Amino acid sequence: MKNIDRIYIDGVFVAPHGTELFDLHNPATARVIGRVRLGDVVDTHAAIAAAKRAFPAFSRTTKADRIAMLNRLADALEARTADLTEAVIEEYGAPLSRASWMADYAVSVFRLAAQTLETYDFTRQIGSARVTMEPLGVVGLITPWNANPGFIANKLAMVVASGSTCVIKPSEMSAIQTQIVTEALHEAGLPAGVFNIVNGRGDVVGAELSNSPDIAKISFTGSTATGRAILRASAETFKRVTLELGGKSPMVILDDADFAVAIPFALGAGYANSGQACIAGTRILVPESRLAEFEAGIKEAVSAVKSGDPRNPETAIGPMVSQRQWDCVQSYIRKGCEEGATLLAGGEGRPDGTADGWFVKPTIFSNVSNDMTIARDEIFGPVLAIIPYASDEQAIAIANDTDYGLHAYVAGCDEIRARAVADRIIAGRVIVNAAPMEMSAPFGGFKHSGIGRENGVFGLEAYLEPKAVMG
Ligand code: NAD
Repeated sequence: MKNIDRIYIDGVFVAPHGTELFDLHNPATARVIGRVRLGDVVDTHAAIAAAKRAFPAFSRTTKADRIAMLNRLADALEARTADLTEAVIEEYGAPLSRASWMADYAVSVFRLAAQTLETYDFTRQIGSARVTMEPLGVVGLITPWNANPGFIANKLAMVVASGSTCVIKPSEMSAIQTQIVTEALHEAGLPAGVFNIVNGRGDVVGAELSNSPDIAKISFTGSTATGRAILRASAETFKRVTLELGGKSPMVILDDADFAVAIPFALGAGYANSGQACIAGTRILVPESRLAEFEAGIKEAVSAVKSGDPRNPETAIGPMVSQRQWDCVQSYIRKGCEEGATLLAGGEGRPDGTADGWFVKPTIFSNVSNDMTIARDEIFGPVLAIIPYASDEQAIAIANDTDYGLHAYVAGCDEIRARAVADRIIAGRVIVNAAPMEMSAPFGGFKHSGIGRENGVFGLEAYLEPKAVMG
């Protein structure tokens, strides 16, 4: 049992004022593996006050100072990647390879922010005006459970790069991972108060950050419903917001696609992070003329996708994070059957050979129409919907017929045609033919997928405010 009973305020680990305890689980066994003592409103105020005190001096640090700090943060976290990988597996259930990628990602975003800063000019001349990009003040950072260390790291990296200070409210379900990250970041020796980390409930600590007049901006990653609540609360004090929310991303398979390549691409994008990924390509748009061929191919391919023990190197899909998430995914599988979609693979219940954990069968529905619930709602589990289409025009229309606009994928042999389709999809990012991710490209969504962008220069400028001085 791990007892997490400290939060991090003003450069030291302190016992929270809050006394509520929250159980932490291993999703692969459904057993309680730890307990976190949650901070409350008093703790949130103390953390905001520390960040506020640290801001004047920190905002005047030089670019070179901050680059050095970002590299120290990366080094300190890198020294704990083995511990972090282990915690991600144990507390989140990510398969081994994914967990180790997650730990490495958290390190890499500090180095990327340092690189972005190297070439960024905080001052520019516009006509007679000298324009300076000013840090915002105290920022509230709120993260979800599906990649908690990475989101703490990428948001904090941009806060430090910009010269602001912050209070971080991590997912309360990820406290073991947060503890390792906090210990590592502490070792980097940043000035006290630059970052403060308060475990707590969303409706307590998170809500207090959104309401506080001392918080200049909220950067939030999580569900669209919570994002909406934060946006409403932030309006009162004109907070800047970056909201990274949900998705229902289309995977458009064009009729010239090579299925030997497109099917693994579709499964990889659809089942990424055990299906608990905001960017998962969950609507697979397939040309009617090749539907039977695609169905046969993906049915065979999915039979080799192993859902089970995250420590088994062959596992591609780990357990859902919680009983609640498992129940939710099961209810969507039921709904898909009730609404008349064809169950091609998987279905309700646990995969063979798994026992107590929150495991789900890799599931694929076909003959889904885009107005069915399983095509509209973000399921956040390994459940994919094949939607047949008649023409490229119709595929683009279906791809765009969603409240979301976070990500999209296009597969086709004619690269020019595939890129032309990508250009017409309303999404913050489109991946053509499994191209690798560009880490410093902007990341974020259109429509209900959020507001603003993270990463690279766009991500940095989301924490800066232009100020023009004339004369
Ligand atoms: P969630 O919205 O339930 O919780 C996210 C965070 O917000 C948690 O720390 C939670 O405690 C906090 N919170 C809850 N209520 C709050 C409130 N009223 N005020 C302030 N904070 C509050 O989301 P989740 O279930 O942890 O994560 C899954 C969701 O995150 C999915 O919808 C997924 O698509 C989304 N997500 C988006 C991205 C992206 O980059 N666009 C990335 C990962 C996850």
